[in-house]
Amino acid sequence: MVEKLKAPRGTQDILAPDSGLWQQIESTAIEIFSKAGFNEIRTPIFESTDVFNRAVGQDSDIVNKEMYTFSDRSDRSLTLRPEATASVVRAFIENNLDREGRPQKLWYRGPMFRYERPQTGRYRQFHQIGIEALGAKAPYIDLEIIGLARDMLESLGIKDLTLYINSLGNKESRKNYTTALKDFLASLQDKVCEDCQRRFKQNPLRALDCKVEADQKLYANAPAITDFLDEESQEIWTKVQAGLKDLDINFVHDKKLVRGLDYYSHCVFEFKTNSKTLGAQSTVLAGGRYDSLVSTLGGAETAAVGWALGIERLSLLVKEVQEEKEEKKLFIISDSAAEALKLARKLRADLKDFSVDFDYEEAKFKKQFDKALKKNYSHIVFYMEDERSKGLYKIKNLRTQEEKDGLNLDELTHLCSNKLASLS
Ligand code: ATP
Ligand code: MG
Repeated sequence: MVEKLKAPRGTQDILAPDSGLWQQIESTAIEIFSKAGFNEIRTPIFESTDVFNRAVGQDSDIVNKEMYTFSDRSDRSLTLRPEATASVVRAFIENNLDREGRPQKLWYRGPMFRYERPQTGRYRQFHQIGIEALGAKAPYIDLEIIGLARDMLESLGIKDLTLYINSLGNKESRKNYTTALKDFLASLQDKVCEDCQRRFKQNPLRALDCKVEADQKLYANAPAITDFLDEESQEIWTKVQAGLKDLDINFVHDKKLVRGLDYYSHCVFEFKTNSKTLGAQSTVLAGGRYDSLVSTLGGAETAAVGWALGIERLSLLVKEVQEEKEEKKLFIISDSAAEALKLARKLRADLKDFSVDFDYEEAKFKKQFDKALKKNYSHIVFYMEDERSKGLYKIKNLRTQEEKDGLNLDELTHLCSNKLASLS
């Protein structure tokens, strides 16, 4: 026997009906982004390893243990992108996008790669949709992109998400805070996880991002970074909070939100869910300001903000809300495929939110009926010889088991679009 081939660990095939959810998420994003003047950018899926080493930071989890790095046949060190902000910034600098005017408002979608332990909502190839605004200093652009994130999640019907925000201040504020945090962390070093011991030495701020619950308990009384903001940072932080209130966007100040990447400053944020399906993978969308990244990668000083959402995590949530709604799928049972085809085309045009299907092979009535049941159709329209000879239709709602016959085409479409609940 030939051994069966399998997709690599941590990757998955996206099959229907999930692929439909992905399309819905992508088209919602495209509509919302283009209305706000964001243009799509597509960058390569792999980059020189340096792009990520320099952008994401040598002591970040991503660079330390999650990158897919390999040498090509000419011994160049390349890395499958673990995130896209670094690539977008590299492209921004390389293509002199700065000359096209500020801010550059860009969005992207596509696969990212991180060597992580696979579990629900965490994969080795996963997909993000994200936006970046480069050359944008005013806090209104932070508010703009947080607003777009919320619009997107709301248009997809997701309500149980909480927005958490924090400020990391500017470099000076972070320096003062880091000293205080180090003092606090010093006495805990024999109790915390190995990763946190490394973080303590390399990048203490990162300890607050630790996923180990016992460590989080120890950090409960850590000093808050927002108590260390200098005047400039405080002013920005106040404006962002006031602006969110002004836009009626609810938020919670999470004093420990620091984000896992090196390049963040000032406002950072995450949208989190309580959904049991996602468990610890509760962050669906995350982002913040990264004013120093463009210059770190060799460009001119350029203030910038952005966020990214995980499509896998989001689609699990969209699935949950949509399962609560009744999906409208109609199957025509007929002994004439030619007539069923004509009727299907007519119903598809008239019934906006229905999908309409029929049997191309003119199988026996029972076979068609069983197929409709098995494939979870919500409605059946009967158009067998008896109905066809009278030019009338019969409909059945498979969810409620209600039936009605002797309908003309107008009555049929009316009944469908006004929900079969009105059948009696
Ligand atoms: P986490 O803390 O869950 O590891 P992160 O801080 O590493 O997330 P980001 O780098 O901010 O995540 O990426 C933004 C979003 O991309 C996350 O909120 C999540 O929805 C998604 N994401 C990140 N890593 C993965 C992964 N391995 N599998 C699936 N989705 C992911
Ligand atoms: Mg991570």
